[in-house]
Amino acid sequence: VRSRATRQVSQARGDAAAAFALETPQETRLAAAVRAVLDACRPLAAVEHELDAALGSVLAEDLGAPSPLPPFDSSAMDGVAVRAGDVAGARADAPVSLRVVDESAAGRPARAAVGAGEAVWISTGAEIPAGADAVVRRESTRIHARRVEVLRAARSGENIRRAGEDVRAGARVLARGTLLGPAQLGMLASLGRARVRCARAPAVSVLVTGDELIGAGQPLRAGAIHDSNSHSVGALARCEGAHVVRSQPVGDSFEATRGAIEAAAADSDVLVVCGGVSVGRHDHVRPALGSLGAERAFWGLALRPGHPTWFGRLGDTLVFGLPGNPVSAMVTFSLLAAPALRALQGRRERGEPLHAALDEGYEKAPGRVHALRCRLERGAGGWRARLTGPQGSHVLSSMLDAEALALVAAETTRVQAGEQVPIEPLPMWSRPRC
Ligand code: AMP
Ligand code: MG
Repeated sequence: VRSRATRQVSQARGDAAAAFALETPQETRLAAAVRAVLDACRPLAAVEHELDAALGSVLAEDLGAPSPLPPFDSSAMDGVAVRAGDVAGARADAPVSLRVVDESAAGRPARAAVGAGEAVWISTGAEIPAGADAVVRRESTRIHARRVEVLRAARSGENIRRAGEDVRAGARVLARGTLLGPAQLGMLASLGRARVRCARAPAVSVLVTGDELIGAGQPLRAGAIHDSNSHSVGALARCEGAHVVRSQPVGDSFEATRGAIEAAAADSDVLVVCGGVSVGRHDHVRPALGSLGAERAFWGLALRPGHPTWFGRLGDTLVFGLPGNPVSAMVTFSLLAAPALRALQGRRERGEPLHAALDEGYEKAPGRVHALRCRLERGAGGWRARLTGPQGSHVLSSMLDAEALALVAAETTRVQAGEQVPIEPLPMWSRPRC
């Protein structure tokens, strides 16, 4: 006896099959596709993180300095704090002898002020005592019990780090949308912060479809391959600051695909389905999405690799249907889903696209952007992009050394060696958490 739910699914399958069977993917331009993806992104709410947990998160507040940095005038050297006027004539063969009245150590300021003919021992980072306006480094002094001989003259202000020299009180230090790396965490701590408001990490689900897929570490059977996409694509998502809340294989059946998509969409901001998105007899992703009422923004990209890519939404969840080939999945994720994850976190994007000179000539048919995996090297005239070897969409080894994608424009048929092409850094090279 078939349950009502099963009958409904079968009905949906029939409708979906009829609707989808005759379709072929469009040739949406890459730039238009990226715009459509970004248009669909609404920034996620902010959460508060302990400082160390904020590495790799995106700042969700504008940060001003409540007080100056450094917070007080301090010494840049170990030596003696003096009045520059007292030592104006000091030379090695005519030292000026001063009476030492106190010490200012790091964290323990002097009590006494420096009067005429007086000095205070001082350490690097210690507060400049009242009355002093210069520090003479230890190497330019001769030390006695209660006196110091200064062997060279000092300018007023010499070896003194002024309060606010690094950051003035009230200055804006970090803007909302900044990626928090090691230096940003150090700055936050310097300004007295223990917690910081960051964008919530997007919840990402990765479904990998295919009856041929075997989990990592499991023995292969005839015709089977190990699933690599759930690991590579999941890692790309994590490199963009996402939490992978679900990573799951799905068999090549309509029911399994529909059920997995429905369940994953319910607890994800972004759902990535790899494979099964093309026009094959066992490609069930689009019919399943259609039967669940997903809204399609585009299917089919003028991009190689990555042609059958699907994008749309299911409720509030952004859904990416990526081709199953391991390189295609990584390339389409990097060009479309990675910018979406950044936008969801409110991350500021680079203004200008980067360019590099392609190391070798490249020829192609017009119509699609080609995304070439390359290494970047700094040359005399700027960046140079060197291809990582054969560029087939199944050649995962071409990703091993890849730092960026060189994007050869759709209408271009030939790039000369040394010609400039736009490049897109891959997520793993731009993220402090990786
Ligand atoms: P599909 O997009 O489902 O037609 O798959 C295209 C190619 O990618 C086929 O050769 C699949 O075996 C392969 N493929 C699909 N999913 C994965 C995966 N998760 N890991 C590795 N290869 C895959
Ligand atoms: Mg498949």
